[in-house]
Amino acid sequence: MTAKEQEQNQAGEQRLKGIPVSDGIACGPARLIFRDSGEYVARYSVGKEDIPQEITRLRRALQLAAEMLDGVIETVEKRISRAHANIFQAQKMIVLDETLLHQAEALIRSKLVNAEAACVEVLDAFEARLLEVDDDYLKDRASDIGEVRRRILEMFRRERGEKESAFPDTQEVPDTPCIVVAEELLPGEAVSFNAMNTAGFLTERGGAASHVAILARGMGIPAISGVKSLFQRIKPGDRLLLNGTTGEIIVNPARPTLNLYPNLGRVGTVRLQTAPPVQGFQVLANINSSADAKLARQMDAEGIGLYRTEFEFIVNDRILTEEEQYERYAEVVKEMEGRPVHLRLADLGGDKAARFLNLPREENPALGYRGARLLLGQPALLAAQARAIARASAHGPIHVIYPMVVDEQQFLRLRALFMSSIMGIPAGEIRHGVMFEVPAACVCAKNILNVADFGSIGSNDLVQYLFAVDRDNGLVSKDYDPDRPAFWNTIGHVTAAAKELGKPVSLCGEMGGQPQYLPKLIAHGIRCVSVSPRLIGLARITAKRGAALFQKEERN
Ligand code: PEP
Ligand code: MG
Repeated sequence: MTAKEQEQNQAGEQRLKGIPVSDGIACGPARLIFRDSGEYVARYSVGKEDIPQEITRLRRALQLAAEMLDGVIETVEKRISRAHANIFQAQKMIVLDETLLHQAEALIRSKLVNAEAACVEVLDAFEARLLEVDDDYLKDRASDIGEVRRRILEMFRRERGEKESAFPDTQEVPDTPCIVVAEELLPGEAVSFNAMNTAGFLTERGGAASHVAILARGMGIPAISGVKSLFQRIKPGDRLLLNGTTGEIIVNPARPTLNLYPNLGRVGTVRLQTAPPVQGFQVLANINSSADAKLARQMDAEGIGLYRTEFEFIVNDRILTEEEQYERYAEVVKEMEGRPVHLRLADLGGDKAARFLNLPREENPALGYRGARLLLGQPALLAAQARAIARASAHGPIHVIYPMVVDEQQFLRLRALFMSSIMGIPAGEIRHGVMFEVPAACVCAKNILNVADFGSIGSNDLVQYLFAVDRDNGLVSKDYDPDRPAFWNTIGHVTAAAKELGKPVSLCGEMGGQPQYLPKLIAHGIRCVSVSPRLIGLARITAKRGAALFQKEERN
């Protein structure tokens, strides 16, 4: 044990590290979810004369599972968004898949087995095929099959008159906000937790691209995955402090640690409270879907600082039409009633794999066909998005952010493509700015800001590329640490260039909402951050405390 670990143990704390999959900080007692016996599948022989009855049971279970999913789809549409509900549409398609029905019927006839055993055998084969593929996205999709299997088995159990449910929505609901701890969560389980009683998710398995991660982000629930042996390290009722942005978990945090997070301890209801705006310091909201704009308004965001439009595509697993995009962008602009909306052009590729574009596999996607490069290579994608944005701008001002730009030439080429695509559209006010997240762009910030209307520092990727450290890799997450001179010099360099040219620059990486960094960001010239809606209050409280710092500087 290192001296540091010993010190932490003495303080009664235990620190664990996982992969951050959904931003935000949460604190609460652990609620351990064990896989119940829902996976047990009765297998028995049936006589030839029983075949018609087994086939009827099979059809009935599939039909009931599809009806149950209709209910889930309706709830998710209301509680999260239509886009997230599509995850369950996909499950419904598996349930109603003719191949599943025909193959299971064939097994009942040929092997003379009961309906549930036949059905599970077919689903297991589907799942095994997905898991064999060397593709993280498809591996994550295999968990959908697991969930479909549990739903269908539940229908068989209900038909047999068993009351037990494998799904947490029917379990006793605790009245304090808890951190749900599980080996793995399936999408249906994640949405069945009451968002008001669930402060965070902590799991052993599940990648950042998993549906659970997408849903957790959609529900604004901080989440971490990839922590080994959770059940040996966490006991029911242990208090957990979970940072879904850095992947850090503190078990039974000591009082001095909790004091670093002034809004915690009352997480849950308080997570949905905000703080009044701070004069001279703007706090905007980061959103991942149009539905999130409502929460941004509830949190009194002074605008949207980053709308990650690529998630609208990723959640639907396809390129949305111009009309579909227009509806979403217009919804956000209308919701913000004239406040600025910074809408980022689809930042696909890298960790945000765009399977639906059918691109060749890359050895090193973080440095590959992504962001600005991908947009230049997919002019039809860019053109449709540009037209949808131009049409939405008729309802209120839009700031377009160009992702992963490396220099001013690349930005100018993209902007020219954007402008030529929107000719003839009666657009409103549109400004064009650059994401500062590639070190080369920061080094040449002045050249870029000379031609761009504004800048937005993407510190999540900037840290990754500046220090050559993967933001999604648990093995190197200790090194994912911005608090080093190279980072602060870079921030200072960009803000100085912006000040000199009189161009606005904000920071939209998640560190903008973190109390340990915000005062230092302010000291390095940042006067506007954009953070997850639930972190707006925390960012404002911290900025207010740090206000003395920048007011003094402003007077000089
Ligand atoms: C960033 O890179 O800091 C950022 C805000 O964008 P994303 O996290 O979507 O890459
Ligand atoms: Mg980025």
